[in-house]
Amino acid sequence: MTPAPLTAAPAFDYCVVGGGLQGCLLAHALAWHRPEAAVLLVERAGTLCGNHTWSFHETDVAQEARGWFEPLVSHRWPGYRVRFPGLSRRVRIPYATITSDRLRDATLALADKAACPARPGRLVVRTGESCEILSPTAVKIGGESETLCRVVLDCRGRAAPAGTPGKAGYQTFIGHEYEIAGRWPAAEPTVMDVRPDQADGFEFLYELPLGPSRVLLEYTRFHEEPACNALRAAEVISARLTEAGATHVKQIRTEQGCLPMPYAAAQRPAGSAVAGGYAGGWYHAATGYSMPLAVRFAELVSRVDPDRLAAEVARAAADDRLRRGFARFLNRLLFCLVRSEDRWKIFRRFYRVLPEERIARFYAHRFTVSDAARILLGRPPSGLAPIRFAKSFASLPRPVPT
Ligand SMILES: Cc1cc2nc3c(=O)[nH]c(=O)nc-3n(C[C@H](O)[C@H](O)[C@H](O)COP(=O)(O)OP(=O)(O)OC[C@H]3O[C@@H](n4cnc5c(N)ncnc54)[C@H](O)[C@@H]3O)c2cc1C
Repeated sequence: MTPAPLTAAPAFDYCVVGGGLQGCLLAHALAWHRPEAAVLLVERAGTLCGNHTWSFHETDVAQEARGWFEPLVSHRWPGYRVRFPGLSRRVRIPYATITSDRLRDATLALADKAACPARPGRLVVRTGESCEILSPTAVKIGGESETLCRVVLDCRGRAAPAGTPGKAGYQTFIGHEYEIAGRWPAAEPTVMDVRPDQADGFEFLYELPLGPSRVLLEYTRFHEEPACNALRAAEVISARLTEAGATHVKQIRTEQGCLPMPYAAAQRPAGSAVAGGYAGGWYHAATGYSMPLAVRFAELVSRVDPDRLAAEVARAAADDRLRRGFARFLNRLLFCLVRSEDRWKIFRRFYRVLPEERIARFYAHRFTVSDAARILLGRPPSGLAPIRFAKSFASLPRPVPT
C-alpha cells in the first residue's frame, strides 16, 4: 500500500481503526502520554469492546503502563488455582480481569472529557461505522471522503487481512456468567480445571468468581477444528454448578468465541499501516491471550514520535521474533506431535515443574532462553505422533515475523 502524500493538514494525529481490546487500550495510553494528541477511534460494531472478560497475570503489565492501565481493571485476586488429575496447585501470581463494560465506559468517558474545550487534545469515538484503510496516513469512513491523519493504526483484530494464515489449532470458549443464591465456594479463580474424562480434544473449565455470589464458568477446548462444542460445554458447566451446590442460579451473560493458535507467522503486505493487537501479531500465540502484548504495543505507540512509529514498531516486533516463533512452535508441538487425549499432560507438566517466576515470564511473553528450555526439556509426553509432526511442516509458507 503506497502512503498517500499529505497534501492537506491531517485532521487527526492518530486514527485507530477498530475499537476492541487493542484500540481502546491505545486510546487510554495516548490520552496519558500524549494528552495534546487528536485521536480518532472508529469501530464498525454498534458499541466498543464487544462482550469479553479479558484476564491476565498482573505481572503481564509493566510498571510504566500502570498509570493509565490501573483504572481499567475490574477485578483482582492474589492468586489462582490449577487442577489436573494428580496435581492441584495454587499459583501465587496476582490475577486480574478487565471487562468489556468497564473498558467501554472508561473509553467513552475519556472521549467526553477530551471533548471539553479546557483540554488541548481530543478523542473522537465513532461507532457503527466501517472504516477502510487507504494508506498508512489515510482512512475512509463509510461513504465520506478520505480522512488524513499522521498515523493510521490498524486494530481490526482478526478482520484485518493478515496474508497467508498458515496452519493453526483452535481454542474455543463458551462461558456463562451466573448470579447464584448464596455464596460461591471459591474466592479465587481456577484457570484450568482439567478432569480425567477428556471428551474430544483437550478441554477444561475456567472459573472466575466475580463476587461472593457471581461467577463466570467458561468451558475451553483446544482442538484441530474451530467449532465450539456447545452440548459438551453445557454438560461440563452444569456439573460444576451441581458440585458447587449452586442450585438456584440466574444466567446473566454469555460469551463465546474461537481463537486460532497458529503454527506459522502471518504476513502483512509491505507498506501496510502500522498494526497492533491480533492484526499485527501483538498477542501471545501459545496462550491465545492478548493483554500483555496489547499493553506493550499501546505503551510503545504512545511514547514514540508518530513519524518514527512504523520503524520502531517493526524493530520491537523483530526484537520479539524468537519468542513469537517459540510460542508458535509450542502450538505446532501441541497440535501435531501430541495426541489429543494426551494434551492435558503437557499443561500438567508445565504447572508441575515451573516455578512462579518462570510461569509469570511465560504468560507475560518475556520468557528467556532458559525458560524456553525448561518448558521443552524433560521426559516427553506419551502419545507422540512424530510423522504427523513432520508432515505439519510440509507446504507451509516461509514464516515471516509480524
Ligand atoms: C471468548 C474469548 C475469551 C478470551 N479471553 C481472553 C482473556 O481472558 N485474556 C486475554 O488477554 N485475551 C483473551 N481473549 C483473546 C482476546 O479477546 C483477543 O485476542 C483480543 O480481543 C484481540 O484484540 P484486538 O483489539 O486485536 O481485536 P478485537 O478485540 O477483536 O477488536 C477488533 C475490533 O475491530 C473492529 N473492526 C474490524 N474491522 C473493522 C473496520 N473495517 N472498521 C472499524 N472497525 C473494525 C471489530 O468490530 C472489533 O471490535 C479471549 C478471546 C475470546 C474469543
